[in-house]
Amino acid sequence: MQRFIDLRSDTVTRPTPAMADAMMAAPVGDDVFGEDPTVNALEARMAAMFGHQAAMFCPSGTMTNQIAIRVHTRPGDEVISDEDAHIYRYEGGGTMANSGCSVRLLSSDRGRFTAEDVEAAINDPGATWLARTRLVSVENSHNRAGGAVWDIGELRRISGLCRSKDLAFHMDGARIFNALAVSGQRSEDVGPLFDSISVCLSKGLGCPVGSVLIGSASFVHEARRVRKRMGGGMRQAGFLAAAGLHALDHHLQRLVEDHRRAGVLGEVLSCSPLVQHLAPVETNIVVFDLKAGLSAKDFLEDLRQQGILAIQFGPARIRMVTHLDLTEADLAHVVGTLRSMATRNIPT
Ligand SMILES: *Cc1c(COP(=O)(O)O)cnc(C)c1O
Repeated sequence: MQRFIDLRSDTVTRPTPAMADAMMAAPVGDDVFGEDPTVNALEARMAAMFGHQAAMFCPSGTMTNQIAIRVHTRPGDEVISDEDAHIYRYEGGGTMANSGCSVRLLSSDRGRFTAEDVEAAINDPGATWLARTRLVSVENSHNRAGGAVWDIGELRRISGLCRSKDLAFHMDGARIFNALAVSGQRSEDVGPLFDSISVCLSKGLGCPVGSVLIGSASFVHEARRVRKRMGGGMRQAGFLAAAGLHALDHHLQRLVEDHRRAGVLGEVLSCSPLVQHLAPVETNIVVFDLKAGLSAKDFLEDLRQQGILAIQFGPARIRMVTHLDLTEADLAHVVGTLRSMATRNIPT
C-alpha cells in the first residue's frame, strides 16, 4: 500500500515505539472505581500543571467540552462562543442536544473576541423573557482560524468579566500546548483564568486516544457523573493514560518543530500563484484559500496523486496540519510538490 504523507490533521499520528512500550507497561485498575493508578497520576499531573484541584480523563475532546457545558449550564441557558467554535460547528449539535442550551455566536478576529464583545452579548438577567447567559467558551489555539493564539491579556479581561457577571468561563484547549509553546505563556498562569479547561492528548502530543477536563474538585466530581451518564466511564484506561504521561515527558518540547514546519509550508504557499489568501501561520495549522476559479477538490486530488493528503475547509479553502509523524523528508516532498503544482497550474 502506498504511504501517504497525511496532513489532514494532527490526530492521524500512531504511537511511537517508546509510547507503545509505556502503554503496555502501565499499572492499571478499574477507573470507574477510581482505582487506576496511571489515570490518577495523569489527572493529578494535568490539574497541577494548570493550577487547578482536579482533572478527569475522557475518550475525546468532544466529550470533555460537552461535559463541561453540561455541568456549567441548565436547559434553556445560553452559551457565548465565536461563530467558528468547535463546540458549535463540530460536535454534532451537542450543546443544544446534550445541554438544551442556545448559543450566542460572536463574530471575531480569527476566533478571538474581546471582553466588550462578551459584555454586549450578555442577556439582562432581570429580563425573564431572555435566555439566561451562563457560560463563555474560548478556543485556544483556534482550529478553523488556522491555529490562532489568544492574547493572555484579553483572556484575563474576559475572565474578570465572567467572574463579575457570575458566568462560567471554559477553554476548549484541544491544542493549548501549541498555544503555550508559541506565546511563552505558562499553563499555571493561564489555567486559573478558567473554570474549566479541555485539553486533547490525541492531537499534537501524539497519543492514540484521550482528552482531559480540568477544574475545581466540585466541578470534576459532577463531571464524573455526567461522563458516566454519557457512557464515557472506562475501566483499565491506564493503558491509554500512560500514553499521555509519556507525551508530557517527551512530546511537549518538540511542538516548536511542528510550528517551524508549518511555517515552511506557509512560506511556500504565500508565494504560490494558486493561493489567494493564507491565514497567518502561528502554530501547526496552515489554512489557505485558492485563487478564484480553482477548486479545493481538484487541488486535493492533485496533491493525492503526489502522495499527500490535506483536508477541505470550504469550497476553495484547504487546511494542512503538521505533526509528530511528519519527517523532514516528507516536508521536502510537500514543498517540492506545492512548487511544481504552482508552475503547472498558473491560472490564466
Ligand atoms: C479536535 C478538537 C476537539 C475535540 O475533538 P475530538 O476528536 O472529539 O477529540 C475540540 N476542540 C477543538 C478546537 C479541536 O480541534
